[in-house]
Amino acid sequence: MESSISITSKLPLVGTTIFTTMSALAQRHQAINLSQGFPDFPPDPILVEYLNQASAAGHHQYAPMPGLLLLREQVARRTEALHRASYDPDSEITITCGATEALFGAFQAFVHPGDEVVLFSPAYDSYEPGIRLAGGIPVFVPLTFPDYQIDWEAVGKAISPKTRGIVINSPHNPSGAIITASDVEKLGQLAEAHDLWVISDEVYDHMVFDGYGQLSLAGDSKLSPRTMVISSFGKTLHTTGWKVGYCLAPEKMMAEFRKVHQFLTFSVATPFQYAIASYLQHQAGEMDDLPRFYQRKRDLFLSLTSGSSLKPLHSSGTYFQLMDFSEVRPGSDLEMSTWLTQVVGVACIPVSVFYPDGTDHQVIRFCFAKQDETLVRAAERLRIL
Ligand code: PMP
Ligand code: GLN
Repeated sequence: MESSISITSKLPLVGTTIFTTMSALAQRHQAINLSQGFPDFPPDPILVEYLNQASAAGHHQYAPMPGLLLLREQVARRTEALHRASYDPDSEITITCGATEALFGAFQAFVHPGDEVVLFSPAYDSYEPGIRLAGGIPVFVPLTFPDYQIDWEAVGKAISPKTRGIVINSPHNPSGAIITASDVEKLGQLAEAHDLWVISDEVYDHMVFDGYGQLSLAGDSKLSPRTMVISSFGKTLHTTGWKVGYCLAPEKMMAEFRKVHQFLTFSVATPFQYAIASYLQHQAGEMDDLPRFYQRKRDLFLSLTSGSSLKPLHSSGTYFQLMDFSEVRPGSDLEMSTWLTQVVGVACIPVSVFYPDGTDHQVIRFCFAKQDETLVRAAERLRIL
């Protein structure tokens, strides 16, 4: 429709996300979609049955604003069991519309105009616009390449009198890198010295490989009083389309977050919350198998593609595998991703889009949260490279 209205964009440099773009390109070319991160297999049928039961029981009206108490209690119980961290379901846990809402709401709640917020590049795509819409200034510190570790000296230099917060993401999208106890120690020192809040995006918390185990900032006594921890049932229960996540924070931070949450979404879809609460109550043990489940898929994908000229980087967590394609083809990672989708028939994500300045190391990201059969079909196509 033609419109003569004049709108000044608040996000002039933002277009459609790469995930939408690459999934659409994959569909158009009937490519195997290893781009956007989502499983191509169904969740546990018991979880779906709980959803059907919640629907049949008539749970179709608004849930309480902070989330169903039953579900918050289950989140508290699990956080206590995994990280020996105690969060009060009444005042310190909120159920959100995916991790995306929790992130956006946190930026709205904590970032004031002119505040600087430290981010690490490559960075998940929703952080920067969330900070900018709140009037904040993202300050990017590049992770080291090719192992995607935090350069703490560079972080120290990036902190100014205007710095108010820092966003950390482990396991890290897109690299699959994870933070260590030493990173947590250094972060704690800096956050305390400069009185910073921390947003810890831990959506892949259950997907850590090679025996490392989950490391949550919820379990760190120095950091947890100044940190909002964010996670997502989309990843943990193979239900990205349900858009149910949660956040944990000390009461003081959570009270400010809820002021935003109540006007951003008010509450999250009720039947999904009942279903997840029942699952956590009766089947939580299933989630403990996720590291083994995804590590096997990572290793299968690596062995199936080992004959190609793609060179894998190390993935310690998430359901992503990075590959260096410099021996396959010259050109940018965007050109490579487009060619791979259109000509070879496997869609992936160019990693340069996660850098504010488009840094291109000739690396692409594949999602291995797929049925074995999908990985086998994709690898057959990739092996010719
Ligand atoms: N953070 C990271 C690092 C992610 O990869 C994603 C997306 N998958 C999200 C946040 C958003 O999670 P959700 O789908 O629960 O909104
Ligand atoms: N987090 C997913 C990924 O990295 C995509 C989520 C989305 O499409 N917004 O692929």
